[in-house]
Amino acid sequence: MRNRESVHFPGIRYMMNISQLLKETASGFGAEGLPTPRLDAEVLLAFSIERERHFLYAHPAKEISGAEMERFRSLVARRMKGEPVAYVTGKKEFWSLVFEVTPDVLIPRPDTEILVEDILKFFRQGREKKIRILEIGTGSGAISVALASELKNVSITATDFSPNALAVAEKNAVSNNVGEKISFVCGDMFESVEGTFDIIVSNPPYISECEFALLDPEVREYEPRRALVAGLEGTEFHRILVRDGKRFLEKGGRLVMEMGAGQRSAIEKMLKEHDYCDIGFASDYAGIERVALAKKRRSPVG
Ligand code: SAM
Ligand code: GLN
Repeated sequence: MRNRESVHFPGIRYMMNISQLLKETASGFGAEGLPTPRLDAEVLLAFSIERERHFLYAHPAKEISGAEMERFRSLVARRMKGEPVAYVTGKKEFWSLVFEVTPDVLIPRPDTEILVEDILKFFRQGREKKIRILEIGTGSGAISVALASELKNVSITATDFSPNALAVAEKNAVSNNVGEKISFVCGDMFESVEGTFDIIVSNPPYISECEFALLDPEVREYEPRRALVAGLEGTEFHRILVRDGKRFLEKGGRLVMEMGAGQRSAIEKMLKEHDYCDIGFASDYAGIERVALAKKRRSPVG
């Protein structure tokens, strides 16, 4: 067995091939308690040698050069301290598209793809008229860019109150070739929004102050707090989206919001109080209710 230092920082002093290096690094990550050690080792090594992950499987005996090894070692050291892999590499896949991520933006989560899927279902038949979508709190731009990549005739307004996040989102729209379909607007919630929309979508912060203290340190210590925390109940932002969203929705328009476990009854109550109809909830891959959907009535009932 090598000493602990060499496991932590695979060094050029040991000539290592891809297979050995992955084994050493994964066992170092595992010993540190990281949840997906082999995957992390593969992603960081592939990134260091500027190849896709499948290259590692095709060339297990390839030896890694000094410069690539140095790069890999420094990435491994960051991961060892608990920094999320996506911030180490500066990128994350969402909806099979590649997004740049920086510490100014939340790393897009796979569960958020459910919002995109649900919205696309509304437009399955396609339509002549241009679809207008508003996203509140776009972060990396994941939701808006994914929607723009799927919908032909669409115009999206994407907001965030963080100018740094918006700069990242804008880059992601351009790199994914949908820059012309999305306008980015800086402001607090609906503050800088004009016009009306067919869809309002948001993955707002929804972690309560208490829950924040219990989050995985990887999330708590590295991801932007203001992207996650929503007051004492975790539903502060949903309340604003439900109340003010109505003003920006067309009649028959839909509000689609991501939410946390156990927030259904509070959100359902808000939606009913504000007279939305067709209220529904969709579950995530773990079976937890994760998305709230509702429609603005076409005509008042009574
Ligand atoms: N839409 C991205 C996603 O799904 O990965 C990011 C979602 S993140 C949970 C919430 C986003 O809302 C963050 O980018 C944060 O900067 C933004 N945000 C928080 N408070 C806001 C506010 N008052 N007005 C506008 N945006 C806000
Ligand atoms: N799903 C995120 C998490 O688990 C929370 C995202 C949010 O607050 N919108 O950390």
